[in-house]
Amino acid sequence: MDDMVRAQRCFEALRDGGVLVVLTGAGISAEVGIPTFRGEEGYWTRGSKVYQPMELATRAAFESEPATVWSWYLYRRGVCSAAAPGRGHEAVARMAAALGDRFHLVTQNVDGLHPRTGIDPARIYEIHGNIFRARCSRDCSAATYSIPDRFDDWPKDAEVTDEDLDALRCPACGAPGRPHVLWFDECYDEARYRADSALSAAAGADVLLVVGTSGATNLPMQMGALSAVRNIPIWDVNPEDNPFGDFARRTPGGVLRTGAGEALVTLADALAAA
Ligand SMILES: [Zn+2]
Repeated sequence: MDDMVRAQRCFEALRDGGVLVVLTGAGISAEVGIPTFRGEEGYWTRGSKVYQPMELATRAAFESEPATVWSWYLYRRGVCSAAAPGRGHEAVARMAAALGDRFHLVTQNVDGLHPRTGIDPARIYEIHGNIFRARCSRDCSAATYSIPDRFDDWPKDAEVTDEDLDALRCPACGAPGRPHVLWFDECYDEARYRADSALSAAAGADVLLVVGTSGATNLPMQMGALSAVRNIPIWDVNPEDNPFGDFARRTPGGVLRTGAGEALVTLADALAAA
């Protein structure tokens, strides 16, 4: 039987019981025009200096050049704001609606597209943060706050001024505000990124559906490894091979080498059909 047919059977069986954990990465949002920003799209020029994404998305960069780091995030925030959830996101929302408290979504995407599809926020673990939120750079609390409207449609070349930085300050203590995103020189935690909740969800999953992620980050890989050891079906939706495909092949699941939208619509149909 071909892997897609087996995956459909697996999702049909979820109608009668079982917990589904969906793990999404950049691939699902690439389909609606959001670049990964880890690659070429993430390069950032300020004056004569060219910054690479891996050096900009760090605590160290923020400490030394907060205006440059903010300008990059504010521009990306505008890109995310202009995008709309795609059929892959909508299909995940249909799975959430069909399963209720038997559904968990762990996303590496900071673009806020999943929350816009109406899934209960309590069931979404944004393990790398959310680009529409800011929080205190001095950690007076883990609370996040909305980035003010004045930063909407931020042009790529606009400078972030001292006045802009003031508008982004922590409303509780007045310290500089920072983007609510996990940086490369930082660690996952529960209070800010719901890392423990994501691992607990994986520990209680009956099916793990992995969509459009390359396995470059630690927590998703732990979820994959844990699920492989538990030998639950892992389905890896990705046009390209990646470490999750290796996990999936060791389980009763498998590998679906298609785009995110196409596969997710098929699986949501299998789950929701009467
Ligand atoms: Zn504060």
